[in-house]
Amino acid sequence: MNIINGKQIAKEIRENLQKEIANLNIIPGLAIVLIGNNEASEIYVRNKLKACEEVGIKGELYRFKGTETEEEIILSLKKLNEDPHINGIIIQSPVPAKYNEEYLNSFISPNKDIDGFGIYNMGMLASNTPNLVAATPAGIIKLLEHENIPIAGKHAVIIGRSKIVGRPLALALLNKDATVTICHSKTKNLQEITSKADILIVAIGKAKYITQDYIKDGAVIIDVGMNRDSNNKLCGDVDYDNVVDKVSYITPVPGGVGPMTIAMLLNNVYESAKKGAK
Ligand code: NAP
Repeated sequence: MNIINGKQIAKEIRENLQKEIANLNIIPGLAIVLIGNNEASEIYVRNKLKACEEVGIKGELYRFKGTETEEEIILSLKKLNEDPHINGIIIQSPVPAKYNEEYLNSFISPNKDIDGFGIYNMGMLASNTPNLVAATPAGIIKLLEHENIPIAGKHAVIIGRSKIVGRPLALALLNKDATVTICHSKTKNLQEITSKADILIVAIGKAKYITQDYIKDGAVIIDVGMNRDSNNKLCGDVDYDNVVDKVSYITPVPGGVGPMTIAMLLNNVYESAKKGAK
C-alpha cells in the first residue's frame, strides 16, 4: 500500500513554480475578490495570498462589504479584466446570498478565469482542448501521474458531481482515456458501482463515509473530502483506517489532495501570466 504524499508533491510544484516565475519578465498578478464577512473565507484568502507571495506572484485583495450592488462589483471585475498587471481573478466562494455567484463569475475574462469555473474553460475541457482547468481536478490528475498510476483504460468512479470537483474531474479523466462513471446522491446501488472502480475518487463532504465495503481489492483511492470527525479532527470522506489495508494507493486527509489545489491554482496564474507575457 502506498500513501500519496500530496504535501510533498505540492511543495515540489511550488518550488519549481518559484524558479519559473523568477525567469518571467513580469510579476504575475492575482486579484482575489472577497465579498462580505465569512470567517472561513478570510482564512482561505490569507492562505492564498501567502502562497502567492512564496512563489513570487503579487496577490491583491479586493474587498467588498456586501452592501454594493451587483453592478458595482461587475464594474470592478471589468476593470480587473482590463488591468495588464492582473493575470488571474478569483471570486472567493461563497458570496453573500443576495448575489448570484455564477453570474458574477461569468464576467471574469476566460484567460483570467484561473479557477476554471467559467463556461468557456469548462467548454474547452469538455472539448478536450483544455485551457485553464479547475485546480482540484488538475491536482488529482497530477497526483496520479506523479505516482505513475495508469489512467487510460481504467475504470474511474467519481462520487460527487459538483462544478468545482466532480464534473471537471470526470472530463479531465475522460480526456486521459479513463472509463468514467459519475455517482451522486440519487445514484442507486452505490456500493455495487464503486466496488468495480480501479480508481475511486470521493468528493461528497461526508466524514469517513466510504468504508471497505465500497472498494475493490487493490483500488486507488483519492479522497477529496475535508471534514471534521466527532473529535473535531480533520478527516476525509473515506474511512482511512478502515480501508487502508485493502488499497494499492490512497491520499491522506490532511496532506493529500488539499495542498495540490493551491499549488495548481498558483500554476494557473503562472500559465495565464506566461500567455500575457508573450
Ligand atoms: P458539494 O458541492 O456539496 O457536492 C457534493 C456532491 O456529493 C454532490 O454531487 C452530491 O450529490 C454528492 N453526494 C452527497 N452525499 C452523497 C452520498 N451519500 N452518496 C453519493 N453522492 C453524494 O461538494 P464539493 O464542493 O464538491 O466538495 C466535496 C468535498 O470535497 C467537501 O468535503 C469539500 O470540503 C471538499 N473539497 C476539498 C477540496 C480540496 O482542495 N481538498 C476542494 C474542493 C472541495 P447531488 O449532486 O445529488 O447533491
